[in-house]
Amino acid sequence: MNNHKHMDPAEAVNYFVARAVQLTGVSASTEKVLMTPHRELRVEVPIRRDSGELETYLGYRVQHDNSRGPFKGGVRFHPSVQVEEVRALASLMTWKTALVDIPFGGAKGGIEVDVSEFSMNELEHLSRTFIRQISRIIGPTMDIPAPDMYTNSQIMAWFLDEFEQLNGHAPAVVTGKPLALGGSPGRTEATGRGAIIVLDEALRTMGRTPGETSVAIQGFGNVGSWAGKLAHRGGYKVVAVSGTEGTAYNGGGIDIDAIAAHREATGSFEGFAGIEMLPGDDVLTLPVDVLIPAALGEVINADNVADVQAQIILEGANHPVTPWADAALTDRGVTVVPDILANAGGVTVSYFEWVQNIQHFRWTERQVNERLEERLVLAHQHVMQTVEDRGCSQREAAFVIAVERVAEASALRGML
Ligand code: NAD
Repeated sequence: MNNHKHMDPAEAVNYFVARAVQLTGVSASTEKVLMTPHRELRVEVPIRRDSGELETYLGYRVQHDNSRGPFKGGVRFHPSVQVEEVRALASLMTWKTALVDIPFGGAKGGIEVDVSEFSMNELEHLSRTFIRQISRIIGPTMDIPAPDMYTNSQIMAWFLDEFEQLNGHAPAVVTGKPLALGGSPGRTEATGRGAIIVLDEALRTMGRTPGETSVAIQGFGNVGSWAGKLAHRGGYKVVAVSGTEGTAYNGGGIDIDAIAAHREATGSFEGFAGIEMLPGDDVLTLPVDVLIPAALGEVINADNVADVQAQIILEGANHPVTPWADAALTDRGVTVVPDILANAGGVTVSYFEWVQNIQHFRWTERQVNERLEERLVLAHQHVMQTVEDRGCSQREAAFVIAVERVAEASALRGML
């Protein structure tokens, strides 16, 4: 496995695809089609800062596959955005939408930018300029962006408005919008909710209960905070949560709604009653039953995998475990619930939002949550059945199901 110790993210995702191809018996020429992105667009994103200075950033939209439906995937604003990573994330979206069987393909976008010091005005200009630059290749039946790291419903509102100024009313061009602009009830918390639905199912198949299960969560943004709140409300003992300021730890369990309110008010976990602050990376190696990485990619890798103590890793983030670390964990008998299942709740409710926009009909939050649960439970059952049938890991099973579906759709179109 040494040759896999360091791979770029696109190589890593393709490594998982190649494993699935081996297990399914899809041909080598098909494998190449499945791995190659359909289109990659790199754009210049110039904006005038509040100081009057003109600054230019690089933005990307990678469209990986649309054999099962329009391209679909989030946009992130982060200094680490590089085309290789966007390519990997676009590919993951193809497999994720196929696994949960929603009629979309895969795409991803991003701008290489640190927005932490941006004013609202600067953020709005950045968002509008980016969407103008990619407007020719997106649309409700072509490619539908959504939020990801450091983008949110306000940014989706600017994306929508800019696109509609050019093309007329088209609420289904972007998901993760505010409710007032056609967003779906339940979308904000959907990824975290989906992660806990999948965790509940995973525990049920192991004969365990939430009450006897401790959890640590890396990252306290959209995915991490909602996974934490819903785990806490569901009876799990959430003992650690982390953010860029460090890890908040209490072995007896943390009231996540209360610490979230404290962080909202003060900007940090620090000062919350009963917790001890530990270094940020400690969250990954605590003695817990479940670890939920819900921030950046490749955080569990060859350097730290030996120190990871959790028995279940639930991938809230995209690609948080490198192939090398994945193999080491599997060898040790650790259950890794793969990203394309564990964090598929977000894109599933994005699909529900798109459906509501197209039908001009709003569902209730209860309908959204019930339908989300129904789809994820089914996808989990399908993965577990494949694990049993093929004697493989959950990641291999998830990729096998997804690759078979995409290969079938591509073959029917005559593309293979
Ligand atoms: P977000 O911007 O809301 O939150 C990211 C959080 O990560 C921030 O709170 C930040 O403080 C934290 N963070 C950054 N570096 C950290 C570090 N070194 N240690 C601890 N925390 C750190 O982003 P998000 O939407 O929650 O996305 C998180 C991950 O989940 C990403 O990998 C994303 O691709 C994935 N994801 C998101 C969605 C979604 O619907 N938002 C869906 C599927 C997957």
